Amino acid sequence: MAAGSAIQIPSRLPLLLTQEGVLLPGSTMRTSVDSPRNMQLVRSRLLKGTSLRSTIIGVIPNTSDPTSDCDDLPSLHRIGTAALAVQVVGSNWPKPHYTLLVTGLCRFQILQLLKEKPYPVAEVEQLDRLEQFTNQHKSEEELGELSEQFYKYAVQLVEMLDMSVPAVAKLRRLLDNLPREALPDILTSIIRTSNQEKLQILDAVSLEERFKMTIPLLVRQIEGLKLLQKTRKPKQDDDKRVVAIRPNRRINHIPSTTEDEEEEEDHDDVVMLEKKIRTSSMSEQALKVCLKEIKRLKKMPQSMPEYALTRNYLELMVELPWNKSTKDRLEIRAARILLDNDHYAMEKLKKRVLEYLAVRQLKNNLKGPILCFVGPPGVGKTSVGRSIAKTLGREFHRIALGGVCDQSDIRGHRRTYVGSMPGRIINGLKTVGVNNPVFLLDEVDKLGKSLQGDPAAALLEVLDPEQNHSFTDHYLNVAFDLSQVLFIATANTTATIPPALLDRMEIIQVPGYTQEEKIEIAHRHLIPKQLEQHGLTPQQIQIPQVTTLDIITRYTREAGVRSLDRKLGAICRAVAVKVAEGQHKETKPDRAEVGEGEDCKEHVTEDAKTESISDTADLALPPEMPILIDFHALKDILGPPMYEMEVSERLSQPGVAIGLAWTPLGGEIMFVEASRMDGEGQLTLTGQLGDVMKESAHLAISWLRSNAKRYQLTNASGSFDLLDNTDIHLHFPAGAVTKDGPSAGVTIVTCLASLFSGRLVCSDVAMTGEITLRGLVLPVGGIKDKVLAAHRAGLKRVIIPQRNEKDLEEIAVNVRQDLTFVLASCLDEVLNAAFDGGFAVKPRIERLNSKL
Ligand code: ADP
Repeated sequence: MAAGSAIQIPSRLPLLLTQEGVLLPGSTMRTSVDSPRNMQLVRSRLLKGTSLRSTIIGVIPNTSDPTSDCDDLPSLHRIGTAALAVQVVGSNWPKPHYTLLVTGLCRFQILQLLKEKPYPVAEVEQLDRLEQFTNQHKSEEELGELSEQFYKYAVQLVEMLDMSVPAVAKLRRLLDNLPREALPDILTSIIRTSNQEKLQILDAVSLEERFKMTIPLLVRQIEGLKLLQKTRKPKQDDDKRVVAIRPNRRINHIPSTTEDEEEEEDHDDVVMLEKKIRTSSMSEQALKVCLKEIKRLKKMPQSMPEYALTRNYLELMVELPWNKSTKDRLEIRAARILLDNDHYAMEKLKKRVLEYLAVRQLKNNLKGPILCFVGPPGVGKTSVGRSIAKTLGREFHRIALGGVCDQSDIRGHRRTYVGSMPGRIINGLKTVGVNNPVFLLDEVDKLGKSLQGDPAAALLEVLDPEQNHSFTDHYLNVAFDLSQVLFIATANTTATIPPALLDRMEIIQVPGYTQEEKIEIAHRHLIPKQLEQHGLTPQQIQIPQVTTLDIITRYTREAGVRSLDRKLGAICRAVAVKVAEGQHKETKPDRAEVGEGEDCKEHVTEDAKTESISDTADLALPPEMPILIDFHALKDILGPPMYEMEVSERLSQPGVAIGLAWTPLGGEIMFVEASRMDGEGQLTLTGQLGDVMKESAHLAISWLRSNAKRYQLTNASGSFDLLDNTDIHLHFPAGAVTKDGPSAGVTIVTCLASLFSGRLVCSDVAMTGEITLRGLVLPVGGIKDKVLAAHRAGLKRVIIPQRNEKDLEEIAVNVRQDLTFVLASCLDEVLNAAFDGGFAVKPRIERLNSKL
C-alpha cells in the first residue's frame, strides 16, 4: 500500500491502545477490544460513524504493563499507526467485547493529547508522508543501494517458498509492484518477528533506518528457512502423507508466525470457496456474481478492507439453501390427529389450518394467502405454527418482529456499509439450511417505523406470492426464491397492522379460553410438560382440578394460559425441591382443616366438581407420595391469592356499574364509578380516557338529563336538572391504562342512572354497547372476548347490543349456558335489565319536558 502518499489522515485521531501485537502500515491485524476506553471508542466512533473518515483511528501499541490500573491513561507510546477499521464484530461472551479488523495506513506521532475520556484523542502529525518529502534531499544513491539490497533479500526469501501457491506468487508480484519504501513494513509483518522487533520498526521513522533494521530480520528468516529445508529433506518420505495432502506447505512455512499461518490458510480457503461456489446449486445469476467476486478476491491483497467483506459475502452465498429443501410429508388425517394431540379446543383455528393444509396437499404449489393468527398472548398461536411445521415435516423458524423499525432488518444492508449483513429472512434461511421452512413472523402488529424506512413495506414484498419468487436482499444483491417458504404471521390485534400488509393476509381470530378449557389444557398439556421439564412423575405430585381452577381464578387473570403455565412451573419447582430433599410435608393434615377447605370449594364450578381434594385420597400409595397440591399448599408456594372476586363488594354503593372492555390482551371487566358533589355543573373524567370515550360520557349525561323526568332522576336538591349546582366525577379505574372506544356508553349511562336514582346496579351484570343521543344502542366489537371476561369474573348476566346477537354463536356452549344474555336495542332495555325489578319509566309524553 502506498505509505501515506495519497492519504491525508485527520489531524486529530481517537487512539486505540492495543494490548498485544503491533500494527504496521500496510498490514492487517485482528485485535480484541474489551477495555472501557477502547469499547467507548468503538461504540462512538466506529459504530455510529457514517463517513469513511470516521473509521480512521490511531492504533498505539500499549507498552506499559497491561495489568496496571486501567483508570488512569498509561503513558502512551509516542508513535503509532493510523488505521482503517475494516470490520467490527461484537460479542457478549464470555464478557462484552468487540473484535476489530484494522488495516494500517501510515505512521503518525502524537503531538498533544487533547482528551483522555471517554477515550483518548490526540493531535497527531502524519510521519510517513513527511518522510517522503524530507527524504528527497537524501542521497538517492545511498538509499537506492540500501533499498536494492533489501529488495534482493526479499526476493530471495519469497523464491524459497513454493511459487505454485497463489499467495506466494502474489507476494512475489507485490514485491515488484509496491513502492519500495512500503516493503520493510509489510515484510516485517509477514515474517517471524517478535513484538519488540516490530515496535522497533514502527519507531524507525527514517526510511533508511527502517531498511537497515529490516535487512537482518530478512537474513535471519532466510537462514532459518535454509536450515529447515535441509533437515526436512531426508524426512520427506516419512512425511509423504502430509505432503500429499498439503503439498509443500510445511516446507515453505517453517519459520512462520501465526499470522502467516492464517494467511496461508486463508488462501486455501479461497480455493476451497471457489470450488464450493462452482459445485453449489445457486441460481445462474448468483453464480455469475459469485465468480466475479471470487476473481476480485483472488487479486485483492488480504489487507484490503474489502477482502473480509467479500469473503463473508461469498461464504454466505455458498451456505444459502438455493436448491435444498425437505420433502413435504403431508397427510391430512395425520395432521388432524397431530393438531388435536398438541392443542385442546381452538376448533375454528384448527379447522381453518386443516383446510389450508388440505388445499396444499391437493395443489402442490399453493399461492394461497398468508395465515395470520390474531389473539391475546398465550393462546397458542406460536405453538400452532410449530405444529404446522411438524405436520408438514418442515423446518420451523420464528422471526420476532416486535420493535423492528428498520427496513434493513428485513431486507439487509447494502454491502458498502461497514458491518453490513443480510436481513432476517435470509439469515433465517441460512440457519434452517433449507429453502422451504415454515417461517413464523411473530408480532407483525408491533412493527415500528423510523427514519431508516418502513419494515412493513419490505415485508410486503416478502409475503406477496406474486413477488417473492425473486426477493432481493440488499446484502445478497441477487434474487432469492422465497416462494417455497410457508409464512405464518401472528399478532395481538389487527388495529396496528399496516393496511397493505393486512390485505395480504387471512386473519384468523384466536380468542381467549374459558375456565373449563384452561383446566383441560392444563391437565392435558401444561402439567405433563412441566412435570417432564422438572423431572417429576405423576406418582410424585398430584394437582387436582380444583387446584387448577384456583390457580386460574385467584392467581391469574389472562385470556391465554401463559401465566397459568408459569404458576404450574413454580409449583413443580417447589415440589422438586421437596422430592429432592426427600423430606416434604404431608399435605393430608391440611385437608382436615375444613374451614378453609370450604373456602376453596366455593370457587369450584359444577364441571370441576369431579376430583375434590378429599376424593383423591391417595389410598394405594405410600403415605407421603404423591404430594398433593391443595389450596394450602398453593398458598405456601404461590403466596396469598392475587385476585379476589371483588365484584359484589364494589357494587355495594350506587354509582358503580360493570362494563366490558376489549384489549389486545383479551377481554376485561371494567368498573365505572361516578360521584356527585356541589358545584357548577361540571363533568370531570379521570382514568386516561381517549376522545371517543370522553364523548360517550358527554352523550350519556345529555341523554340522562333529557330523560331525567321520565325516570324520576333528581340531583341532590331534588331538581330534574341533574347538573344544577352539581358537579359529576366519572372515574374508570386502572388509571394507568389508556382506554378508548365507544363501547362504554351503556355502562356510563347505567352508572349515572344508579347515582341519580340512588339504586344499586345488580352485582352480577356486565354490559357493553355504544349509545346515540336518542338512546339507541349500537353494536360493538370484541363480543366474544368480552363475554369470556364476564364469565371469568363470575358474572351471570351480560347486556349486549341486539345487533351483536350473531356474535354469540362463536361462544362455547358451556359459557353460553352459564350466562344470561340481554339483547338491548335501546337504553330503556339496558336500564331495565341492569336494575333489580327494572327501572321505572313514566309515561312517554313526559319526555317533551326535556331540558334539551
Ligand atoms: P402465543 O404465541 O399465542 O402467545 P404460545 O403459542 O406461546 O402463545 O403458547 C403458550 C403456551 O401455552 C405454549 O406452551 C402452548 O403449548 C400452550 N398452549 C396454548 N394453547 C394451548 C392449547 N389449546 N392446547 C395446548 N397447549 C396450549
